[in-house]
Amino acid sequence: MSASVFVVNAGSSSLKYQLLDATSGQCYATGLVDRIGESRSTAKHQPTDGEKIVEDLHIRDHEKALQWVMDQFAKAGPDLDRAGLIGVGHRVVQGGARFDGPAVVTDDVISQIDELAPLAPLHNPANLLGIRAAQAAFPDLPHVAVFDTAFHLTIPPAAHLYAIDRQVAAANRIRKYGFHGTSHSFVSKRMATLLDRPLAEVNTIVLHLGNGASACAVRGGDSIETSMGMTPLAGLVMGTRSGDIDAGVIFHLHHQAGMSAAEIDQLLNKRSGMYGLTGTGDMRDVQAAADAGLAHATAALEVYAHRLRGVIGSYLVHLGRTDAIAFTAGVGENSPQVRADALRDLEGLGIVLDPARNEGGGPDGDAPERRISADESAIQVWVVPTNEELEIARQTRQATQA
Ligand code: ADP
Repeated sequence: MSASVFVVNAGSSSLKYQLLDATSGQCYATGLVDRIGESRSTAKHQPTDGEKIVEDLHIRDHEKALQWVMDQFAKAGPDLDRAGLIGVGHRVVQGGARFDGPAVVTDDVISQIDELAPLAPLHNPANLLGIRAAQAAFPDLPHVAVFDTAFHLTIPPAAHLYAIDRQVAAANRIRKYGFHGTSHSFVSKRMATLLDRPLAEVNTIVLHLGNGASACAVRGGDSIETSMGMTPLAGLVMGTRSGDIDAGVIFHLHHQAGMSAAEIDQLLNKRSGMYGLTGTGDMRDVQAAADAGLAHATAALEVYAHRLRGVIGSYLVHLGRTDAIAFTAGVGENSPQVRADALRDLEGLGIVLDPARNEGGGPDGDAPERRISADESAIQVWVVPTNEELEIARQTRQATQA
């Protein structure tokens, strides 16, 4: 092991981790402690070369969760003392207009992440719990915060300003921040490598389609537009989130339906998107329902594709010249149907899918990373699996070496 990094992704009641090599990308262990603070938490530790450990036990807080994790490394390996650890990388959701790259964690950085909490009340405080717990577990290593928003700070004002009162926007820090930045960064860099061209010369549309979904237009390595906004509620249709919606709907629901702000928040974030349209947020179930002839599932897939096509069309214009479109995350990597629906009948725009490659029957079979466009397609289309942990590890290495 040479430059290994311990990557932490902490939620309010969960802690995901991975031990991996920032240079080779090799993963040595993964794990998850879930339902922290509840009477029965679930804890899993999976060494790459060993038996998976699963325990149900009460874990009071994030610090206790990391203690459990350290115990498992001691018992089942790999040996952390011999892992060549160079740092701990933390996923932090909201870096505001302040953080345009990874930041070595100091007291000042912690207070700035805390100060940004009103912009991400569900995420930044939870991310800080992870940072504090990991600092206790790894007191001698540098800790690095890697922000979901940082990659998007290159988005120009024309795209990041909302057309509302300037003073209100400034006082409340309202603007487009964008999210999934580590994924968009990883995939766009990988895309340039796959095209065998310098990153600075490659323009890519990245479609990160998971439970949460966002698109990003990347020009020469810089994000110039993305579909999420001040919050991750904006943009594409998602598993349970509505994506873009006329803001007037919110007033209508409040004034006419008597719903409170909290109820509307819950509706749009947890009970909308594919779940709202079909009763399930899982794309596999929606596709199975459509295949079984359920009209509302077919309609939901059409809404999903329509929104996606609108964003792709808009990004083709914003980029002017597009070299590649990359599909990534759970739906993007695994659903030939979503990919085909998104890019249907675009020959006139230079985008031609190869149906067999899209289905996994091309020369690369169903290799996770593969080109799925036809040879004559002017814009290449690829499936590029994302690896946010590796991107966090690389950025951690970069920040600790700076
Ligand atoms: P998250 O945003 O939580 O990280 P993922 O990137 O893992 O989510 O994506 C989860 C989504 O991927 C789910 O909606 C799931 O249905 C979808 N998915 C996974 N495999 C397939 C598949 N074979 N076909 C269609 N959708 C799939």
